[in-house]
Amino acid sequence: MHDPSLPPDDGSGALFGLDALVDAREEGPSFRDSPAARRMLPVREIHAEPAAAASPRGRQILARFPGARLIEVGSHWRIPGLHGNEGKVERWVRVKGETLVLGERKTLTTRPNGRSADWIAPGASNGCAMACAYCYVPRRKGYANPVTVFTNIDRIIAHIGRHIARQGPKPEPNQCDPEAWVYDIGENGDCSVDALISDNTADLVHAFRRWPAAKASFATKFVNPDLLALDPRGRTRVRFSVMPPEDSRLLDLRTSPVAERIAAAADFLDAGYEVHFNLSPVVVRPGWREAWAELLTHLDDVLPARVKEQAAAEVIMLTHNRELHEVNLGWHPRGEEVLWRPDLQQAKRSENGALNVRYRNQVKAEAVGALRDLITARAPWLRVRYAF
Ligand code: SF4
Repeated sequence: MHDPSLPPDDGSGALFGLDALVDAREEGPSFRDSPAARRMLPVREIHAEPAAAASPRGRQILARFPGARLIEVGSHWRIPGLHGNEGKVERWVRVKGETLVLGERKTLTTRPNGRSADWIAPGASNGCAMACAYCYVPRRKGYANPVTVFTNIDRIIAHIGRHIARQGPKPEPNQCDPEAWVYDIGENGDCSVDALISDNTADLVHAFRRWPAAKASFATKFVNPDLLALDPRGRTRVRFSVMPPEDSRLLDLRTSPVAERIAAAADFLDAGYEVHFNLSPVVVRPGWREAWAELLTHLDDVLPARVKEQAAAEVIMLTHNRELHEVNLGWHPRGEEVLWRPDLQQAKRSENGALNVRYRNQVKAEAVGALRDLITARAPWLRVRYAF
């Protein structure tokens, strides 16, 4: 990659491989104390709102990273010298691993969704230690966007509990779930990586065990074996994001390799999770159909029947935006050769003024149709919940 502080890129696109995970599992009970986890998050600086640092969750996090310098900040938003894009391009990836922010979530709002989940819950974090080139999560804080952990997890969980209670039972099945209200708990980050930092993900998984009318759901690109010990009792859906490995090696930086995410599916199912897949993002580039056909064949070859029986998928076509494109040109121009395709894409100004691009209607319709056909041919057991 482009940051000399990181271990040399072995071409896998990942910071560490399955061997490291297996070693870590054998070493002790907690993956997050393993060298592999420390390589993902070699935290050196923690920017913290005073109340967040003083809270029980904040103290737990500070104790986990005793060598980190604590910097007091007035607000987790707009930290001078950390957020924004200026001068950060070279340091972007390093900042993601070496910096944490602790804050309190002030706005507790659950929004209707209807596609991936019925509801988007207020997340317990914002930002990510991984560095996917197409990631939309940094859109508000700028692209040097390390994990902000919200320490008032009790308030977040109490809010979700009240929201669920107000809904009552789900009146009828929909594609999100036949019975439960599905709450996405990881809209602006990756809950598996958050679990390396604190017990926020564990607390959410445990909370959903108490709510039979609801189910938590989050997408992830990171295999964190610690999640296997959380005993979710079927009330949390993990969506492993997958894409052809050659796309992932180019675009999904610092994530677990795709084959490792797929290989983890049965373990997660056996540990009590529902396991779905996000086929996302689908990047239209020369050879994309063949690459997806191979990936779907791989899923069919390696997944055991019990995973296939309960699996479903979301298909999400790539969206991108001009600002991110320009930032990426400064550090990862090769990725932009496949992500930025004005010949195939159309622009749309979003509510916040950003210029987003997505595939033109016809390109998208044809691609979605082609992918559905490939699924039917190669992995017919994989129900497509929605394609967008
Ligand atoms: S794993 Fe998800 S949240 Fe993290 S950088 Fe990649 S797309 Fe963004």
